Amino acid sequence: MPTVTLSDALLDELVQICGEEHVFAGAAARFNRARVPSPFPVHRWDEFVPDAVVLPTSAEQISEVVKLANRERVPVVPRAGGTGLTDGAVPLRHGIMVDVKLMNRILELDLEDRTVTVQPGINMLKLSEELKPHGFIYPDNPASYPCSLVGGRIGTSGWSLIGGRYGHTRDLVISFELVLPTGEIVRVGDGGGPKVRKSSSGYQLKHLFMGHQGTLGIVTEATLELVKRPEAEFSAFYAYPSYLDAWRATGDFARSGAATLAGVVLFDEWKLAYLRRDDEAYIPQPESVKAVVALALYGNDDEVRASAKRMLRLGKASGGTYLGDEISQGDWASRHDRYATPLHGRTRDGQVVPMSWHCEDASILYSQLPAVREKWHAIAAGLRERFDMFDDWGMFAYTNGAFKPWGDYLTEIDIGIWEMQWDDESWAAWVDAKREIARVALEHGGSISACHGSCREGEVDLVPEELGGGFEVMKAVKRALDPNNVMNPGKYLLDRAYEEDAP
Ligand SMILES: Cc1cc2nc3c(=O)[nH]c(=O)nc-3n(C[C@H](O)[C@H](O)[C@H](O)COP(=O)(O)OP(=O)(O)OC[C@H]3O[C@@H](n4cnc5c(N)ncnc54)[C@H](O)[C@@H]3O)c2cc1C
Repeated sequence: MPTVTLSDALLDELVQICGEEHVFAGAAARFNRARVPSPFPVHRWDEFVPDAVVLPTSAEQISEVVKLANRERVPVVPRAGGTGLTDGAVPLRHGIMVDVKLMNRILELDLEDRTVTVQPGINMLKLSEELKPHGFIYPDNPASYPCSLVGGRIGTSGWSLIGGRYGHTRDLVISFELVLPTGEIVRVGDGGGPKVRKSSSGYQLKHLFMGHQGTLGIVTEATLELVKRPEAEFSAFYAYPSYLDAWRATGDFARSGAATLAGVVLFDEWKLAYLRRDDEAYIPQPESVKAVVALALYGNDDEVRASAKRMLRLGKASGGTYLGDEISQGDWASRHDRYATPLHGRTRDGQVVPMSWHCEDASILYSQLPAVREKWHAIAAGLRERFDMFDDWGMFAYTNGAFKPWGDYLTEIDIGIWEMQWDDESWAAWVDAKREIARVALEHGGSISACHGSCREGEVDLVPEELGGGFEVMKAVKRALDPNNVMNPGKYLLDRAYEEDAP
């Protein structure tokens, strides 16, 4: 699809739809919404800038914008918090950016049926503050809790830190309204009414429109699960003398069968080295500690007490050293801050330089974690050897399956990048490394992404391989629902759906 520059007449139409104060064509508004907090080719910033930004206030306005985009064949890109790490909200083909931040109201609180209906621009922190006086939470709890928004959580099908106990975004969103790529407004759920949790009527469309990275429409309202505020929370951190000891203990905790288990996290020795070296908030353990395992329990007081006893028994039996209440409670409490803090890393000779954080987030089977870890660190080392602008910040593995947190793990390698050093050569090497990291995940029976999505340069090349025939279905769905390829074009290789020989 060619690059489009919007005409004054088209901008006027946007103003008529959204109101003058909600349409921006100035450079600052557009450039700021081009980038995301993951590695961004700052040396090619211009290539990703939208032609106009609109901040609509209703589904009807969004519908009109989308109809206009179809008439004029202009790309439309939805954006919520802009914290996505797979470039979903980056306008690859320019066009109109639909920023949903002004649609941030709670529309209905139903304490009887335990649902809350919201607009897509609300964030989970604000939502939980509103729910607190009523004794409820909305337990979608990513590390980006204060800055990602409900629309983006649906757009990415997000992962929650306490998903083992309460489920992830797809389990917690009951139904939602969205504007289809042709402008019609529909509601999708698991079938039945907007508050029904389980139905067998028709297709289970909620899942089709979850995690599509804005390629199949724009969410304008969502009905979410309300969960009683947990009476008790328990976290415990254990130290181990080797990664393999810690990995075995992780398996023991995750397979304990405790219904209160919200998550288990495994930190490897590269991660501990990085935290010791560069995270002032981290309380360092002695060098003999090579890996750490953390776990968290949530629920009713009596249930949490009983499962905590079980976990303490398992921790002891696994040879772990309990790190004490201060680290256990303090580090778990800082789970939303840990990722936002790294602003610097080290060059090969130890010089401190400004770096931004990036993480790969594959889904890896428990049995494969040790092998994948070795290969990923080797890829990161190769990158660092060639370009003194990358730093290996170590790996985490988090339990991944909702309500059955034992099979696969959201496995991330965190890489620090000195972004101002980007040039075409280092960018190409980075893209190659991402592709290699994704390939290792697939070779070990995993998935390229457990939570962010997989449409960035490099990794996206392997999506057809990961999905097989499913990718053909994706293309057919895309072409059927978005005949003019206006909805977030260029993502997930879906332009291929419009090639002449596409199914
Ligand atoms: C510090 C940090 C920590 C993070 N931790 C986690 C974590 O623990 N778990 C996790 O899952 N992710 C995490 N992420 C990634 C990110 O926060 C999530 O992917 C989040 O779901 C994105 O939400 P957002 O509102 O920022 O969406 P955006 O980045 O604005 O958009 C994400 C995608 O959704 C689409 N989209 C946006 N709004 C809509 C809409 N209304 N309708 C349809 N599509 C839409 C966009 O086009 C884009 O493709 C983290 C990111 C950061 C920076």
